[in-house]
Amino acid sequence: MSSTLPLDLEVLHRDITAWFAAAGRDLPWRRPECSPWGVMVSEFMLQQTPVVRVLPVWEQWMQRWPEPADLVSEPSGEAVRAWGRLGYPRRALRLAEAARRITEYHDGQVPSTYADLLALPGVGSYTAAAIACFAFGIPETVVDTNIRRVHARLVSGRALPEPSYTAAEARLAAELMPPAGHDGGELGCAWNAAVMELGALVCTARSPRCGECPVAAACAWVAAGKPEPHYTPKGQAWAGTDRQVRGAMMAILRASDAPVEAARLLDVAPPEAASVPPGASPAPAAAVEEALHRLRALPAAAAQRRRCLEGLISDGLASETSHGITLPH
Ligand code: SF4
Repeated sequence: MSSTLPLDLEVLHRDITAWFAAAGRDLPWRRPECSPWGVMVSEFMLQQTPVVRVLPVWEQWMQRWPEPADLVSEPSGEAVRAWGRLGYPRRALRLAEAARRITEYHDGQVPSTYADLLALPGVGSYTAAAIACFAFGIPETVVDTNIRRVHARLVSGRALPEPSYTAAEARLAAELMPPAGHDGGELGCAWNAAVMELGALVCTARSPRCGECPVAAACAWVAAGKPEPHYTPKGQAWAGTDRQVRGAMMAILRASDAPVEAARLLDVAPPEAASVPPGASPAPAAAVEEALHRLRALPAAAAQRRRCLEGLISDGLASETSHGITLPH
């Protein structure tokens, strides 16, 4: 089927994948020896967290739990603890639940089809396509925020994609995919990885480096004179939000091997002097005190603290025992 796009797709495919082969980052989950489970763990962690923060956590995770069954053998609270400060820790619970399903229904092996992947907890359409593509070489159309931004600029001539993913974007992404040929989908998978990397390294959200872009001569946004965005993107507030308070509470639970009294998590007394100098690595008990200090220092009223603690318990990220609050068992 010939394309109706005003672009030479063959040239685009060639130039962007060649750039990726030369300039793409050597990430452990991209190496041929990485297992499908390693790819799946990386996709969960990368959903809302940058590569640089994911790398050390992924390395430790894969050393500790090289197979889904290894993760299943430990309480889900350990997955939440190991998640550390990646944020959105419900992803850790869903990954642990997905590992359980894989162990029960797929003989301990990450399934390879899009449909089976999509049926796993925590796996949406993007993640299913990405695992199928990057772990199994099946050229599903992968669309993440980086890819959407490159498509918007390169093809549609807009500074930013729409605030929410649209059917028109999905059609465009499918049309831009290399045709399934005789290469078993290799070019399609390389294309997905290459466009994603171009968006992460060159066609960045705030300051695209068009001078280094392999397809600048074909870019519709550059040709249009780099028009301003057609809307103002909303920044993600952090200070004062429930997410900040919940994150501070989770840091306490991760640091503590013993249950923490709920009253200590809800305490709004003014903070005492920090017990650990900045940059020092605190001992476990001191680490708990340090984390408590950080929580108390937040300008959150008692009602907000209570709401956040209740939310963590109802989300399964914390458990209430007769001795206090812990990570889930
Ligand atoms: Fe993005 Fe600039 Fe390349 Fe266009 S030329 S795709 S805006 S980096």
